[in-house]
Amino acid sequence: MPANAPETWEDDEMHDHSEDVASGGAGADARDPSGFGNSGASRRAFLKSGAGILAAGAVALPATARAQDADPELAGLLRERRILIKGGVVLTLDRQVGDFARADVLIEDGKIREVRPDIAVGGDAAAVIDASRRIVVPGFIDSHHHFYQGLLRNILTNGLLNPDYNRDISSTLTPAYQPADVYAGALVTALGMIDMGTTAAVDTSQVSHTPEHTDAGIRALQDAGIRAVYAYWRGQGPATQYPQDVARLQKTYFGSQDQLLTLALGATLDAKVFAFAREAGLRTVSHGVSNATERALLELGRAGLLRPGDEYIHCTQLSDEAWRLIKDTGGRVSLATPIEMAMGHGMPGIQSALDHGIRPSLSSDVDATMAQDPFTIMRATFTLQRLMVLQRASRGETNLPPLLTCRDVLEFATIEGARCADLDRKVGTLTPGKEADIVLLAADRINVWPLNNAPGAVVNVMNPGHVETVLIAGKPKKWRGNLVGIDLPRVLRLAEEARDGVLRRAGFAMNLLG
Ligand SMILES: [Zn+2]
Repeated sequence: MPANAPETWEDDEMHDHSEDVASGGAGADARDPSGFGNSGASRRAFLKSGAGILAAGAVALPATARAQDADPELAGLLRERRILIKGGVVLTLDRQVGDFARADVLIEDGKIREVRPDIAVGGDAAAVIDASRRIVVPGFIDSHHHFYQGLLRNILTNGLLNPDYNRDISSTLTPAYQPADVYAGALVTALGMIDMGTTAAVDTSQVSHTPEHTDAGIRALQDAGIRAVYAYWRGQGPATQYPQDVARLQKTYFGSQDQLLTLALGATLDAKVFAFAREAGLRTVSHGVSNATERALLELGRAGLLRPGDEYIHCTQLSDEAWRLIKDTGGRVSLATPIEMAMGHGMPGIQSALDHGIRPSLSSDVDATMAQDPFTIMRATFTLQRLMVLQRASRGETNLPPLLTCRDVLEFATIEGARCADLDRKVGTLTPGKEADIVLLAADRINVWPLNNAPGAVVNVMNPGHVETVLIAGKPKKWRGNLVGIDLPRVLRLAEEARDGVLRRAGFAMNLLG
């Protein structure tokens, strides 16, 4: 790690409110979802121990209440090293492998072994999932979401980025988070994502007020069992250890390549931050990239600090020069189409990205305002790009770019998300050899059937209610409509208690009926 780590790091979209968090410290008044007892010295000792905010599996169902005990099919899926998904409409989204009106997917030891019709396996050698009248797709990938904000769903439902979000979320509510709140927020976000078919995401955290806050966020991702890139980011207040604490994180949580979590550095467009990331060997995830900040981006480019695989979020109204720089340096782009439209970030750069040869990924950004479900984001992207092109056509313009198709948008939400998160070697398509992050969508519902076009059904007809079964690395995380192994009442209670605590400390009143 570089010794010359800068002392202050400004975030494009956040104000520093050191005084607000100063009393928070390392978890004073933190609730204790780990069951270590809710008061006194033992809790503080645990929080300070560095062992993390929670015991692993704190939200796992007790053995007496496990669904698999009552469901032999689920028990088989959890037990067998081979799983056969049989007879589904399979969209691999891998052009080499192709798509199938009816095929099987064989999973072995968590990885996709084979995709083709009529795979035969002997008798008891595999657990079988009947996928008839199901569309089988790669798990959706959300390339930018602030997980800790799960507690704040819809709290800013009609808000703008400026001044509402900056004032209420960044400056008032975020500083009031304690580690247990970060855990609860990230947990409901991650489990909510899995429930809606999102198997991987980039957590652009922004709440590392102390190392304990950081630990809590990472533990929530681990406990939820989602695949995620943890983009370590500064918090607020005097105890933030950004960026130098990333060395500890690398050692503590990210030593293995063979795990669901990977690490990146959340970065402002600052040469010191980028130089730090380069020395630490980390990809950068840059937030708030727009016409207002692009001069800094161009300077980073001139300084030779941009690397292939770096992620740029929003990219609203960039100049041709900035787009060319991102393309030429191998950058990845994340567009939060619905949020950018609703909150005043500027025109989403869908067409600009495509015009510069960049296939964008999609992201949900904040659920303080908008749903995090992939269907909403895909549909908004599909409709907006077409509106923009069709408006140009109606004005008599010729030589127009092609209209997006449902398949294009489905790729943005899967393989392009994987590329953006640097996970495309592992996931993003149903390619033999990749890890089995797979979603089964129920097409035999009264609001979908009969099925006439599979990509169209996924992008333009379905909603999260059609997400029936979700596998991550071959492990069932949602089975026939229910999350697997999660003590849901406990999670809901944690989220509500944490929400209450954050609002109380922030002195913020929610408006339930407004
Ligand atoms: Zn964001």
